[in-house]
Amino acid sequence: MTVGINSDTRNMAQVIDGRAVARRLEEQTMAEVDALVAAGKPHPGLAVVLVGDDPASEVYVRRKIKKCDEIGICSFEYRLPAETTQRELLSLIAQLNEDRVIHGILCQVPLPPHIDTRAVLDAIAPEKDVDGFHPVNVGRLSTGTGGIVPCTPLGVMMLLETVIDDFVGKHVVVIGKSNIVGKPIAMLLLERECTVTVTHIYTENLAELAAKADIIVAAAGAPELVKGDWVKPGAVVIDVGITRVTDQDGKEKLVGDVKFDEVQHAKAVTPAPGGVGPMTIACLLHNTVQAAKAFYQGAARNRDDPYHDAPDRSLIYGTAAKLQFACRGQERKESR
Ligand code: NAD
Repeated sequence: MTVGINSDTRNMAQVIDGRAVARRLEEQTMAEVDALVAAGKPHPGLAVVLVGDDPASEVYVRRKIKKCDEIGICSFEYRLPAETTQRELLSLIAQLNEDRVIHGILCQVPLPPHIDTRAVLDAIAPEKDVDGFHPVNVGRLSTGTGGIVPCTPLGVMMLLETVIDDFVGKHVVVIGKSNIVGKPIAMLLLERECTVTVTHIYTENLAELAAKADIIVAAAGAPELVKGDWVKPGAVVIDVGITRVTDQDGKEKLVGDVKFDEVQHAKAVTPAPGGVGPMTIACLLHNTVQAAKAFYQGAARNRDDPYHDAPDRSLIYGTAAKLQFACRGQERKESR
């Protein structure tokens, strides 16, 4: 099936600038941290658990920690050797669940093969599960009853909101049905009254399905899968996929799931990289701060807030600038 592809530069698709939207979200998140601190609460705390020495995970973790520092979130790194047992990891998670200074727990995946990833993710307290992977949060999302939303799908929704005013009745084709991207995106869009078709590697006639969609969310990890004639003129295209490939000159580059140059007849499209990626980290920071706010609201309701009557606590934690000193210098940054 072929639809007209407009190569006229006067009708180029709007490029959704994920970096700019992420920056706005980070500024908002930073303001929320400042408001918490001004109210006498400590800075939100995020525990980042990394098991083994997977190079890609190492890069992601470093990026997340750097962003935490910029925003005023106190990050606590737990670097464990690859031979850490499941029991040891679960014991650490249990300890972090009880720790009142930690509001979010992130366990970087993939975990080494001898560890049951599901068991570890399930052990994180749902209210600290800032990745939104715990079954309680998954259940809340699918029943539309709140909970913590996974970062990438939340970022996708925020990007869509910059170009779509009214989601009701829109036909969406989601390409990919993973638990961390495809399925939660489908749930979020169903909540907005979209008609959602979730597709995957075994879907037949994917191109024809996609070509009928008002919105395409491509999250397959299949480089340049979505061609120009898969996209209806005026559709919105979100490219979640990101794959490292080697080009003809032997150079490595990152490629999305969408053939960007061919979809300029769309209403709007995200670049990859520079679209969804920056939103994922910004949403992690957002989720952590929301978890901290929920913790203090709940604690205040329960009259169980150690900081509730202790505004001087802000003197200990100070401003975002002092925070780095406070966090980085303390013994809680454990390395094993
Ligand atoms: P996954 O491998 O868990 O799932 C991929 C899904 O896509 C599966 O449901 C599979 O059936 C489907 N699929 C694969 N090839 C297909 C094809 N040719 N046609 C139709 N469906 C196909 O992957 P994931 O974890 O969901 O990630 C998907 C992509 O999104 C990857 O490229 C990943 O790197 C990227 N990603 C990006 C971010 C970000 O922050 N930018 C975050 C998460 C994932």
